[in-house]
Amino acid sequence: MKNHLLTALAVGLGSTLFAQHKFAQLDIELPTPNEYRNAAGGPGHNYYQQKADYKMTITLDDDRQIIRGEEVITYTNNSPDVLEYLWLQLDQNIYRPDAESHFIEVEKMEDFKSIKDVERKLMTFDGGYNIESVASVNGEKMRYAINHTMMRIDPAKPLAAGGSISFKIKWWYKINDRMKVGGRSGYEYFDTDKNYLYTIAQFFPRMCVYSDVEGWQNKQFLGRGEFALPFGDYEVSITVPGDHIVGATGELQNGSVVLTAEQRERMKKAVTADSPVLIVTQAEAEQKEKGHEKSLKTWVFKAKNVRDFAFASSRKFMWDAQNQQVAGKNILCMSYYPKEGNPLWERYSTKLVAHTIATYSKYTIDYPYPVAISVHSDKIGMEYPMICFNGGRPQADGTYSEETKYGMWGVIIHEVGHNFFPMIINSDERQWSWMDEGLNTFVQYLTEQEWERGYPSRRGPAANITNYMRGDQRYISPIMTNSESIWQFGNNAYGKPATALNILRETVMGRELFDYSFKMYCERWKFKHPTPADLFRTMEDASSVDLDWFWRGWFYSTDFVDVSVDYVKHFQLNSNNPTTEKGLQQQESAQKPEFIGDTRNKESIKQTVNEKDPNIDDFYAKRNVYEVDKLDQKEYTDFQAKLTPEQKKLIESNKHFYELSFTNKGGLVTPLIVQATFADGTTEIVRIPAEIWRMEHTTVTKVFLFDKEVKSFQLDPFLETADCDTDNNSFPPSAAPTRYQLFQQKANPEENPMQRQKRMEAGN
Ligand SMILES: [Zn+2]
Repeated sequence: MKNHLLTALAVGLGSTLFAQHKFAQLDIELPTPNEYRNAAGGPGHNYYQQKADYKMTITLDDDRQIIRGEEVITYTNNSPDVLEYLWLQLDQNIYRPDAESHFIEVEKMEDFKSIKDVERKLMTFDGGYNIESVASVNGEKMRYAINHTMMRIDPAKPLAAGGSISFKIKWWYKINDRMKVGGRSGYEYFDTDKNYLYTIAQFFPRMCVYSDVEGWQNKQFLGRGEFALPFGDYEVSITVPGDHIVGATGELQNGSVVLTAEQRERMKKAVTADSPVLIVTQAEAEQKEKGHEKSLKTWVFKAKNVRDFAFASSRKFMWDAQNQQVAGKNILCMSYYPKEGNPLWERYSTKLVAHTIATYSKYTIDYPYPVAISVHSDKIGMEYPMICFNGGRPQADGTYSEETKYGMWGVIIHEVGHNFFPMIINSDERQWSWMDEGLNTFVQYLTEQEWERGYPSRRGPAANITNYMRGDQRYISPIMTNSESIWQFGNNAYGKPATALNILRETVMGRELFDYSFKMYCERWKFKHPTPADLFRTMEDASSVDLDWFWRGWFYSTDFVDVSVDYVKHFQLNSNNPTTEKGLQQQESAQKPEFIGDTRNKESIKQTVNEKDPNIDDFYAKRNVYEVDKLDQKEYTDFQAKLTPEQKKLIESNKHFYELSFTNKGGLVTPLIVQATFADGTTEIVRIPAEIWRMEHTTVTKVFLFDKEVKSFQLDPFLETADCDTDNNSFPPSAAPTRYQLFQQKANPEENPMQRQKRMEAGN
């Protein structure tokens, strides 16, 4: 999108039509480029961003499931503005009984189907922050106000441009039971061994983003729109029971204190190993499950240039690690999991972490952090810098379904992938879910395909999005919709943008131009705060492909791709040679079907008048119209004399012309990929850019020229455009039979194939 104020198109069509024109430039929709964000899609010459550094001491109370913290935040105002107040996020307040999120869900009585549903409605968990104090580093109390999930702090005097301020917050809260209350973090309680597994995140008051785009991004946390956070450096000490193992954002600073000599020895091996080395074995973890250490240990972590901090802690943890090189740098890939995660976790988790950071580095930016961690946390997938919490739990007997396996692989790749979007390419999640989820799901697809050939990726391939896109339009939102207001969140924020990027890569731009431009976007915006316009502009500016129609159709509308082939007309050039042409005409006339009346009259009328009376037939009746006479010959010779040798050759070549008509039924403009199959079984592909629709949005015709006669035409033969109805894509229409399945009762509906195999081997 360059900044065209008025295109010729706009003048021609008038302003109301202009807004709807499928090829109109995205002018009104995008913010005007400025000194902070330029028209090419990069950071402007005066781009700035704020910095928030944290020093925290945290205590995890494993007896009462309470967490306490004291944090010193140093906030640096790099903006040109004076800040009268500062905004912080209090995510835990979503667990207060009076949280807005409890009241905004639309409900009907029929939503309560069982006593469990009623119990869930009645259940109150009195979580949320208890803010004990907010003070300057000298201990002077600071004024603050809490508005649900946001806290405003008023400094004694406004924070000048270029200035910085340090202040202290003391807080505590009750940790939520993640399995009952839900949430992205919390604890899971294991009744069999009476132990807890904590995955702790969004746990401390965090600075909001202040930027040239939103001012303060202090839109309330309602549960879905995730987090907008500034970068900074963290130093965190976490005190936990002495038998716990802790994994966290950043590098462990005091391994010599918290790890045993044996663990340190194993870690030494792991840092150069190219497959996982166990630091804590299953036997060791199971042994610890039986005890309950009373003494405490403090684990210290440091992380540089991250936008958040999270950790996991449990005495149930097994722990393994391996090395992965990215651009010559060693990255320590690690996993933490209870025995309940095995056999899947020990076998796959850390290998998936290593594969993910290597593959993402190829398509985006080199992974910049020293560690990458995957923690097993049943049922969910959630990402934080360097660490993520992932589901994928086998059954108690150690078997698992194929869905569980692919679910675990997919969620680990996805959540580790989030290190890139939005942890480093730090978009505003509170506003746009698709900017991190969609981009991440797209690279997840590329990573899955490099993990296993034919990996059944749920999202990415164009054909997988068609059911959603052609669905009930009342329940579909444009991708450019705020996180909280999206219908069908997964399809909208993950599936559709991932598919759109795939279509750009495979069909609209081609892999080379796409990969260069996409990497350019990632390089430009790593460790910065990009917006949708920055992505849209960079993809165009770096590739010289006008994509405004694409963004408009795929991101700003709910149109879908459905193009039909309406008709095919076949032509060949008239040679003007009277012998050939009259011969053909005679043949054609003889092959014409005969009218039923004529057939019957041959029998019923014994003799007509002209058959009886020779004086009836005149010149016209006796003339043979297919006969070639001297004048015909002369005309042909004269015609030939005027032709160049090339023209003669072209006429004699007897090429086949086909006029095809296409109708755009879904509204979304798309390239046309047309495959012609010839009588001899060979094929030819013609690729037509989407601009064929630039004047006519509904029906276009196109003439195709082939040496051989075409037997059939197929539109979108490689399923690359997300055409929602492929039944109208062939000519002539095909009528292959479908196997109709009658209803069948399964003997063991709950059994997974591994259990079936065991049963078979046992002879049952
Ligand atoms: Zn995600």
